[in-house]
Amino acid sequence: MATTLIAQATIFDATCAKPFTGSVLIDGNRIASVITGRDRPQADHVIEADGKFLMPGMTEGHGHLSFENVTATENLITPCPEEQVFTAARGAKALLDAGFTSVYGASEAKLRLAVAVRNEVNAGRIPGPRIRAGGLEISVTGAMGDESKEHNPRVGPSTLVDGPEEMRKAVRTHCREGVDNIKLDVSGDPFYPSTPGHTTPMSFEEIKMAVDTAHAYGRKINAHTRSIQGSKDCIRAGVDGLFHCEYSDEALLDMMEEAKDRIFVVPTIDLFDCMATGKAANWGITAEVAGWMGIPGLIEESIKTHTALRQRGVRHLIGGDFGFAWSAQGAQARDLQHFIKYYGYSSADALICATRNGGQAMMADGSLGTIEAGKLADMVLVDGDVLADISLLTDTSKLVLIMKDGSLYKSPA
Ligand SMILES: [Zn+2]
Repeated sequence: MATTLIAQATIFDATCAKPFTGSVLIDGNRIASVITGRDRPQADHVIEADGKFLMPGMTEGHGHLSFENVTATENLITPCPEEQVFTAARGAKALLDAGFTSVYGASEAKLRLAVAVRNEVNAGRIPGPRIRAGGLEISVTGAMGDESKEHNPRVGPSTLVDGPEEMRKAVRTHCREGVDNIKLDVSGDPFYPSTPGHTTPMSFEEIKMAVDTAHAYGRKINAHTRSIQGSKDCIRAGVDGLFHCEYSDEALLDMMEEAKDRIFVVPTIDLFDCMATGKAANWGITAEVAGWMGIPGLIEESIKTHTALRQRGVRHLIGGDFGFAWSAQGAQARDLQHFIKYYGYSSADALICATRNGGQAMMADGSLGTIEAGKLADMVLVDGDVLADISLLTDTSKLVLIMKDGSLYKSPA
């Protein structure tokens, strides 16, 4: 198999080591060796990095590939699946273009959109990152995702279930259709006034059934959970990924710390940041509207909870809820700035959330997310000192090389 040497880079390997000068030898789709200093082993192809910043590829931790220019759930419900497959394919490409070599799926506008795109990407027919495909959100009557009324049986962007048996059927259906990541809507949400974020419409019995069923099929299970009760129920039931998690108390923080080796937490702060700072004002969500919706209060809770989780060593992932009109697919790297500003992360530790933690969420065998011998070769070479200015990663022109699975998707001119 052909070998490639990325020579003389400043290597950020995401193992907590300080960046160092060295070279990386890639054999097939794996990193064969990492050479510290000036030594250069023989290789079939050599790419001169000239001291540029080499880091592992990033993982979007809560992907919605089929969201594009969304301003309302109508944009998810109305389009036909045939068109939406193209939307999801564009979302996948935008992520890879932005240095995201993996996406950990949350939910999609239709059940099989990410499944279809994942299969095409894996077959090498379209460009995209590694994809753990999400399906539809699974919710309960009257909660987030249920947009029907007695007089108007409107179907929302979700599968609705009531009771453990209906939950079992819904999760099995998702597994049959090829979904990797199941997503539950456990808590309420500020976009659904009858079930605000601190409420918990889904019952523990429903969550537990979903977890046991998903795990029986070897799939991961994740939850939209903002409420304290919802997050506690998720931990007790064995949920793998917790999305949002703004509200907390001491007991919940203790539970999450105890479960830190088996859970991942994704704050998805960009949506609220956009709403509260007027970036969504052109679409009717002014800072004043965000105030009525209670968004500044949710941001305060998010800061408290996720700062505490960082201090307790709980694994955070970046990304989440991109694909709205104010947050294009591919802009996910700006979450690194949010992690520093809101949760007190150092640049290096924020980058570890984006790379090592993301790799661990994608593949439980530890084969992804760091630059070490034996790991899968997903890397990005950046023109500039990323640790000095993390915003460089939001500029795709600075990403001079993008490698996924040992193949060069983008190479230096
Ligand atoms: Zn989401």
